[in-house]
Amino acid sequence: MPAPKPLVIAVDGPAASGKGTIARALAKHFGLPHLDTGTLYRAVALHLLRWGGDPESEFAALRACDEIAGLADDPELRSEAVGGIASRISAYPMVRQALLQRQQNFAEQPGGAVLDGRDIGTVIAPDATAKLFVTASPEVRAERRLAELLARGLHAHLADVLIDIRARDERDSHRSAAPLARADDALLLDTSALDRDSAVAQAVRLVERKIKAESQPA
Ligand code: C5P
Repeated sequence: MPAPKPLVIAVDGPAASGKGTIARALAKHFGLPHLDTGTLYRAVALHLLRWGGDPESEFAALRACDEIAGLADDPELRSEAVGGIASRISAYPMVRQALLQRQQNFAEQPGGAVLDGRDIGTVIAPDATAKLFVTASPEVRAERRLAELLARGLHAHLADVLIDIRARDERDSHRSAAPLARADDALLLDTSALDRDSAVAQAVRLVERKIKAESQPA
């Protein structure tokens, strides 16, 4: 009998949709390792910010891809400045190519994995067992992001956060290299009206249903 296929779960969606929380919860539920792929782009951005590389230069950003070891847990990774630069440099095809292999290696590890990002179901793991596209209205996402910023002691206004969310959506969805897009076979999960626990419960249900469907003989 062939060995069962490893469980790979792809979670994509726009900023502050809840995809990170859902991906972490899915990893815990199914006992799988988890990779937040946004961290890689943020690490490249942080390197440029901290060591003075020009984010407008694709080559400078490409060089920074080799310098991100040790930045994964840096507290500055989550800052708005780093997020803004990450959104810009992630449009460069050479940067995406440089970060591709390590994401695919993570997805292909023998025991399976959960990855979240923008292009997991479309580019990194197109054969994933289950794909979720997590979304929420821009207004709800702006409110969540504002609450996060305030909780970290940072001052911000809802209107500015909403403008930033919309700008990031625009950049992520319209770039030519691996734009944010729902894979044809991704299950949609709109978290606009859901609290954390309900969103997680629904994600677990969707993935379990998909696993069950996969295991039925055709
Ligand atoms: O998800 P997060 O906001 O941490 O990601 C930061 C930026 O990295 C996003 O705005 C997006 O442009 C980029 N990104 C990407 N592809 C991924 C993950 C993140 O382009 N798989």
